Amino acid sequence: GALGGPEPGPRQHRIRVCVRKRPLNPREAGLQDFDVVTVPCRGVVVVHEARQRLDLSRYLESQTFRFDHAFDDSAPNELVYRHTAQPLVESIFRGGMATCFAYGQTGSGKTHTMVGDLSAKGQGCPKGVYSLVAQDVFCWLQEPSYKQLELQVYGAFFEIYGGKVYDLLNWRNRLKVLEDGKQQIQVVGLQEEEVSCVEDVMKLIEMGNRCRTSGQTSANTHSSRSHAIFQIILRKRGKLHGKFSLIDLAGNERGADTGSADRRTRLEGAEINKSLLVLKECIRALGRNKAHTPFRASKLTQVLRDSFIGENSCTCMIATISPGMRSCEHTLNTLRYANRVK
Ligand code: ADP
Ligand code: MG
Repeated sequence: GALGGPEPGPRQHRIRVCVRKRPLNPREAGLQDFDVVTVPCRGVVVVHEARQRLDLSRYLESQTFRFDHAFDDSAPNELVYRHTAQPLVESIFRGGMATCFAYGQTGSGKTHTMVGDLSAKGQGCPKGVYSLVAQDVFCWLQEPSYKQLELQVYGAFFEIYGGKVYDLLNWRNRLKVLEDGKQQIQVVGLQEEEVSCVEDVMKLIEMGNRCRTSGQTSANTHSSRSHAIFQIILRKRGKLHGKFSLIDLAGNERGADTGSADRRTRLEGAEINKSLLVLKECIRALGRNKAHTPFRASKLTQVLRDSFIGENSCTCMIATISPGMRSCEHTLNTLRYANRVK
């Protein structure tokens, strides 16, 4: 098709892992932090870690990682989108299930990538993967072969916080997840809004985002501890046809909160840690026909179960990293995780 990238086919094409480095920000520069990440060529990321010798002199130790794609800090959202989620869009018209995750440390650019900048209205405001997917979905819908399917498009938006599911299009209504005898998963009562243009989708994203952070004492703390899942669902006479799930994951550094003095923080940290570990296992098992994929071990993978199984599932991960020396340890953790899922 006109919009299409490579066709999702054999196993090696079903998971695509990319890394995106964000620019050093003024606050970091003010703290005398400096850029220790380079993207020397397509698909390669190098982290220059500062080390100290016994005589206290300093040197840099470089570690190199390879991915399907690596984006330098100059890459705009559109370019990242073109090499990650965009090639998967058409698959949902053919009855497939597509998933795109943003994984990384808090402040590394997950929301910037997925949601874009909602506060900057009008021209020049960066669109995120959510609305770029929506834009292409409405383009594909006009293709004669798909137009004749008479599909309806819906949006759903929910979050998982502390292992519980909340509807972001319905006042953070707490939702139950049920599994029937055939291992079909249902998020009971999840609001699905019919959408007919990109603007409709943007409205849902804004509404959900407001819902995600309203009433929270600290918006950033809350969003760093929750997984936000935005879905574009295609239905044919009410029956599920295809689905694209776009996930802004909790900050991966939160999984280390298990040593915190505060009990609630500790429990939430343990939950995040577990869900990210289980996610890694489930992605690794994707398309490998493994009988014991541990979907049930976390709410996140349980609700995404139908996107991991089946011939028509494809996934991409955008690992976002901060460039600063002070974030080096988190950056290396993110790159190691991304390396394991590819
Ligand atoms: P996260 O969701 O991972 O916690 P954010 O997306 O909120 O991180 O990013 C933190 C800050 O850095 C925001 O102010 C955001 O606008 C900025 N930022 C992130 N990625 C980029 C980028 N690629 N280019 C420019 N600014 C970015
Ligand atoms: Mg965020």
